[in-house]
Amino acid sequence: MSDTLPIAAKWWDLREEEPGLHIGFEPHMFRWSRANALLIKGSTHDLVVDTGCSISPFRTAIAHLIDKPIILFTTHCHRDHVGGHSDFADSEILVHAAEADDLRHPPKSSLRFSDAKPSSIEKWKQVGINTDGAMIDALPYAGFDIDAYSYKGVEPTRIVGEGDIVDIGSRVFEVLHLPGHSPGCIALWEAATGTLISGDAIYDGHISDHSPYSDIPTYIRTMERLRDLPVRRVHGGHRDSFGRARMIEIIDDYLASRRPRIAT
Ligand SMILES: [Zn+2]
Repeated sequence: MSDTLPIAAKWWDLREEEPGLHIGFEPHMFRWSRANALLIKGSTHDLVVDTGCSISPFRTAIAHLIDKPIILFTTHCHRDHVGGHSDFADSEILVHAAEADDLRHPPKSSLRFSDAKPSSIEKWKQVGINTDGAMIDALPYAGFDIDAYSYKGVEPTRIVGEGDIVDIGSRVFEVLHLPGHSPGCIALWEAATGTLISGDAIYDGHISDHSPYSDIPTYIRTMERLRDLPVRRVHGGHRDSFGRARMIEIIDDYLASRRPRIAT
């Protein structure tokens, strides 16, 4: 199967979204697992937020931009956000207490749809995804072995939660605990600019609250909280960044679809 896939010219698609704020994603990864990884340049530290699946290491993709000690912030521990964390074992690694053990001891992982839970395979089939092959449509390099893929655990150096500060010199972020998608979802909030680095708490796409680790009543409270926050710009865990008006639309759509369920 592996040898029938083309070799990607470049694994990471990396762009400078705003001055000093770079966003990368893996275009050849299955679209539901195609998460954003960020690099935010500060005057004292380089702040990395998540690492995607890192089928080819995110660290290698940003190496030319790094010239300070690295702080790696973990929005949550789903595979598509922590796949490359073990490449940062020499850095400061931040995670919420509720998911620290998931970072240390990740579950077994595979790039084959057929290795997923039957319920997931069924869901993919229903929306027309061909589940016979791999979750990548190109190889990062010649000889890459799809079946040898796994990602490693890593020891966090700092447990963070609501109200903690992440200071990179020229920018200062506050940690917000935004559970619902998963128990340890955390975000970075920069009040001075109205910037929210939100992970999977909110992004411009179908909001995922159906995993065994999700909790809808908790998610509703998170969305209500975000609605009241003076956000100007959101850099989400998936897809494109967006502004306040779009954020309110996403929140209101979510609340309209979920509140009635809770009320009954
Ligand atoms: Zn997630």
